[in-house]
Amino acid sequence: MRQYSAKALGAFGTHAKDVLPDLRDLCKSPVEKDYVTRSVLAAGKTIREAVRIAEEQAVHCCRRCGVKLAADEYARSQKAFQRPFCDHCFDEVFLDRRNFETKVELQKTICAKDGTVVQSDGERMICEVLSAEGIQYRYDERFRILSGHAIRPDFYLPEFDVYVEYWGMDTADYKIGMLKKQQLYQQQGKKLISLYPDDKPHLCDILLGKLAKFKYNEAVKHRRREISR
Ligand SMILES: [Zn+2]
Repeated sequence: MRQYSAKALGAFGTHAKDVLPDLRDLCKSPVEKDYVTRSVLAAGKTIREAVRIAEEQAVHCCRRCGVKLAADEYARSQKAFQRPFCDHCFDEVFLDRRNFETKVELQKTICAKDGTVVQSDGERMICEVLSAEGIQYRYDERFRILSGHAIRPDFYLPEFDVYVEYWGMDTADYKIGMLKKQQLYQQQGKKLISLYPDDKPHLCDILLGKLAKFKYNEAVKHRRREISR
């Protein structure tokens, strides 16, 4: 009799998901006969599968703008924020968070030698290397949009047309955002120099070394253009 009840429960699919804990207890019960346990196991499996399919087919909307989410957008956002956001809002939320985290952890009160007020010791060092080398830079430009995504570069070097980002945080959210931003720069053909806390002991050499490569590339391109004429 009990095995038929269990079988019938399976047919209710997701509606029976509240009985899953009871089925689990029933499975463990030593007084139940083997064929009952087998029916209970099968019913539990059917119900769990129904719940999984329902979740897959559920329509998820962006928490911020309400747009319908693609499955990969939903998965990525859930993983990073445990909340559903579309790709566009993901960036905005990420940047808000980043600004918040930066503010909380570092506060924008570090003053470089040339008077630029920055957010971290790493950024201060970048300022000081650039000004010591007489390299023009703009710090903390407003957001600009790269293919629909908001980007706030730390430094922009107009003579080189190069962006410099100091990736100072070490949280998982931050890293996901960082990789995504680096990819965006690349997709847009923007030149980006990334610097990290580990670079700090040799920041001057690393920054100038990376810059020299860009300069070199430009010179090579220029020469090639001359030759092809
Ligand atoms: Zn959105």
